[in-house]
Amino acid sequence: MAQYSNALKACQPNLLRQVYGKSKSLIHGLFPATCLLCLDPGQPPALDLCRECEDDLPRNAAACAGCASPLPRPGAACVHCALQRHAFDAAFAPFRYEFPLVELIHRLKYGGQVAIARILGTVLGHRLLERGAPPVDALVPVPLHPAREAQRGYNQAWEIARFAGQVTGVPVLDRVALRMRATEEQAALPASVRRVNVRGAFEALAGCVPPAVAIVDDVLTTGATADALAEALKRAGCRRVEAWAVARAVGEPAQR
Ligand SMILES: [Zn+2]
Ligand SMILES: [Zn+2]
Repeated sequence: MAQYSNALKACQPNLLRQVYGKSKSLIHGLFPATCLLCLDPGQPPALDLCRECEDDLPRNAAACAGCASPLPRPGAACVHCALQRHAFDAAFAPFRYEFPLVELIHRLKYGGQVAIARILGTVLGHRLLERGAPPVDALVPVPLHPAREAQRGYNQAWEIARFAGQVTGVPVLDRVALRMRATEEQAALPASVRRVNVRGAFEALAGCVPPAVAIVDDVLTTGATADALAEALKRAGCRRVEAWAVARAVGEPAQR
């Protein structure tokens, strides 16, 4: 009996993978990807965004390398980064936080539509590949406090990082960083108090982080959350931390 039970346990992962793989292809066959924005066919096998709508997303083409803040011309640092450095070493957000990303991110965070993370993570991954090989060893999604994650049912940053990692081949580190305090939702606070709200909110597990990582989030705004997490990751041994997000809020200069 024990032998049988061990054999069953041993074969289950394969069996599960096969069943899951087959059911996934069946689902994709029955429900081909459809663009969420224009209802044209999506991009096979499962991206619910057509190529034209992906190309039409508002690009953050000229951005400060320090904080991803949109700039009038490429090449310069923004006035804030010229005066004061962030705890993270560089930032990348390929899109501006405008229509339709505002709506998509809102539906992901507050509407329970976790499937939208595949779109956001994939388009982030595509733009990262366009820049060249990602210069980090791993992705670290911004952790939610366990109470908020339980309430939402998932961490949207983790879901985005999962798909960006699939596209780029960069592994995602789960649970190496923890949110120790349940902070107020940053989006609900004025820029001036966001830094205080999130200060000291994170801890990272020393010895569990590689030398270079990228923090992944849905939106980069003042950079306060990314700074607090970058400080924790550096305390834990990271030497280089980048801050990556799908979209950069416009008109919210990064501040230290
Ligand atoms: Zn479309
Ligand atoms: Zn800047």
